[in-house]
Amino acid sequence: MSEITEKQNPPANNNIMDIINTGCYVAGNKIESEKILEVRSPYDNRLVGTVALANATHAEQAIETALKGGQKLTRYDRFSILDKARQLLIERRDEFAKIISAESGLAIREAIYETGRVHDVLMFAAMESLKDDGQIFSCDISPQGKARKIFTTREPLSLALCITPFNHPLNQVAHKIAPAIAVGTPVILKPSEKTPLTAIKFTELLYDAGLPHYMLSTLLGPTNEIAEPLVKDPRVEIVSFTGSVTVGKRIATVAGYKKVILELGGNDPIIILEDADMDMAVHLAAEGSYRNSGQRCTAVKRILVHEKIKEAFTEKFVQKSKSYICGDPSDAATVVGTVIDEASAIYLETVVNKAVEQGAKILLGGRRSGALMEPTVITNVPRNADMVMQESFGPLAPILAFKDIDDAIALSNSTAYGLSSGIITNNMQHAIRFIKELKVGTVNINEVPGYRIESSPFGGIKDSGLGVKEGVIEAMKCFTFVKTFSMPW
Ligand code: NAP
Repeated sequence: MSEITEKQNPPANNNIMDIINTGCYVAGNKIESEKILEVRSPYDNRLVGTVALANATHAEQAIETALKGGQKLTRYDRFSILDKARQLLIERRDEFAKIISAESGLAIREAIYETGRVHDVLMFAAMESLKDDGQIFSCDISPQGKARKIFTTREPLSLALCITPFNHPLNQVAHKIAPAIAVGTPVILKPSEKTPLTAIKFTELLYDAGLPHYMLSTLLGPTNEIAEPLVKDPRVEIVSFTGSVTVGKRIATVAGYKKVILELGGNDPIIILEDADMDMAVHLAAEGSYRNSGQRCTAVKRILVHEKIKEAFTEKFVQKSKSYICGDPSDAATVVGTVIDEASAIYLETVVNKAVEQGAKILLGGRRSGALMEPTVITNVPRNADMVMQESFGPLAPILAFKDIDDAIALSNSTAYGLSSGIITNNMQHAIRFIKELKVGTVNINEVPGYRIESSPFGGIKDSGLGVKEGVIEAMKCFTFVKTFSMPW
């Protein structure tokens, strides 16, 4: 059964680590500073590490060093750095997993899984860095044409600012930096203040893999001294941001004349049709709702079930949900760790209580202890409840019934978000309708909304993003501009 284990006496295990005292990096130089950020475990508030914070002078140094540049990297250089980083990550997997888990409260098994995803990001970025990205256009192909050819080549941008959220402390960072390295674009990284240690360790791993120092600075500090001035700085050619809708829209407003990539929040449905394979539906709904403590932009935030099978589904789903043990993140048996902090857990508790006041019924969970929120199954949730309309970033599983496919599509499209979706059906005609009619960036048939490989295009529309995709290959395009040249031929 899902339960909250006692915090006072965590079981002894090997997943507790020494305190990390570190600092931000300006082009390979670890800074010293009076201002120190303490990083504490969301589970038991123990000190996990400290970070010496950067100031405006450091930000200026980071810009100048990146723009000054250094050794120009060939494709083979970029491949070698990324591939070496991949190998180093395999060697340091357990160290990274412990840091991710300690500072974010994610279960250690999720943290290990995340290192596997980052392995793939580095591998795909290394592979893609070797490929030629040019196109050739023959010009003698129309009555207006002539004997010439037009060629395209991609050139790196001079400087990228990458801003990342807390929910995948390593993978979010890797999804920005690896594609930038693959094309040779220098980066200033501003990771989440809630999970800075993983980002700094990854920065060190990339330097160890041979990344020239001018290619990467990692800065944390007050938003008005670091993040916002960098977003506005005209020398930054691209801001690549992943995070909340509120901050994303603010960045869109203040960035000015530059490329802006926004990967924002989600409110993804899993839609279970009458003909669905019930066991598959139950398994995918649970995985989508609870993995990573429900803190994935593509987590299942709404379970929409055909009214005729709702009762049977709900019974099995509650049973399944009991196997998602919630507790000490460092315990290998824990499936669901904490959410990022107590304030977030309190917010989730409030959202649940509000839905109950509106007539919803809790079937499992619903309790909170500190930053631990139990996997919570809740039914009869009104369609206008905050839990349905907004993004609840935690292990909540609201179940709603729909009466037919038109109703399911309308219900799915009824929120401001448009990131991804999962449809459980064996009916091809129905599947095609959802693919065509859902206003989202991704439709996965018989999979969770979050399914993807690290190189496939990924990203949302509406409030979830501007429709510009990430994923290794698309992100590489974002970090370059296309130059064309033509020659008589
Ligand atoms: P957040 O509060 O928006 O923070 C994201 C990053 O933005 C952090 O590094 C934060 O720094 C920084 N930031 C805050 N204010 C800023 C400003 N005015 N200018 C520039 N940067 C600023 O998001 P979060 O709570 O960390 O992450 C959760 C959100 O990310 C969820 O909504 C989730 O759905 C979304 N997300 C989306 C995707 C996707 O691909 N669509 C993927 C993962 C997560 P500080 O930490 O210093 O505040």
